[in-house]
Amino acid sequence: MKRNNILITVDLEDWFQVENFKNSIPFSEWDAKELRFENNTRRLLEIFEECNIKATFFVLAWNAERVPELVRDIYNLGHEIASHGYNHHLCSDTTIEDLRQDLQKSKSVLEEIIGSPVLGYRAPSFSITGQAISLLKEIGYTYDSSYNNFGLNHRHGSLDLSQYRKKSFAYKDPQGFWELPISNLTIGKMTFPWGGGGYFRLLNRTLFRIGVQRILKKERGYMFYIHPWEIDPNQPLVSDAGFFFRFRHYLNLGKCESKLSSFIESFQDCSFLTCSQYLKSLDNIQKP
Ligand SMILES: [Zn+2]
Repeated sequence: MKRNNILITVDLEDWFQVENFKNSIPFSEWDAKELRFENNTRRLLEIFEECNIKATFFVLAWNAERVPELVRDIYNLGHEIASHGYNHHLCSDTTIEDLRQDLQKSKSVLEEIIGSPVLGYRAPSFSITGQAISLLKEIGYTYDSSYNNFGLNHRHGSLDLSQYRKKSFAYKDPQGFWELPISNLTIGKMTFPWGGGGYFRLLNRTLFRIGVQRILKKERGYMFYIHPWEIDPNQPLVSDAGFFFRFRHYLNLGKCESKLSSFIESFQDCSFLTCSQYLKSLDNIQKP
């Protein structure tokens, strides 16, 4: 029987670039902040090496410009480099011209560094829109991985997938553009956020694993996301952010690294693929 697929993805951004702290640390202050993403990402790379898996890194191009050798190293280790935009502005909160520039600039910055095409995009805070998808196609991306059907987070964007064809857990539109949604757990009419991030840190590891097994049984594939700052309990504290934002950001950071390793270890019967590898495997199945 064919193995189930797990796609591990990393949104490569730093502790001060997250949406939860935007009111405390605007873009204009980024340059003055301590960069911690390189060490944290290198630790993630070690974990992936230990577990012998490949992942997809959605890289914020502002970071790539500051530490290009990290991006090259990720690529040379066989992982996929994709775009997380340039400055983490939400798609839903940006003019079409600014968004076009962001999508073009981040793609070209990353391609310049790795010397290879960048095919995928993930919108900051999953804030994808139909307009952003049109721009992605126009600019030459071949897939997006931002759609998140958990409805209770107001930052999540929405997409009309009625014209897309579903294949495993991916969706392909009539022009051949793919959407790789974040995996959530559906029980009856309820949807629970089960794709990673803060929810991964919040939930007990056995419970999380059972949820993923349930998703795999239904979809044959599962999309997981994590950020480098989530394995960094020593990051600076942003004390003037709201309580709820701080709770979400700092919850269980110290346990996350071992949780990640044991999560990957517990699914050794699955194939861990990059997004592009996964899409290629779906395209191959479709051919007669
Ligand atoms: Zn992000």
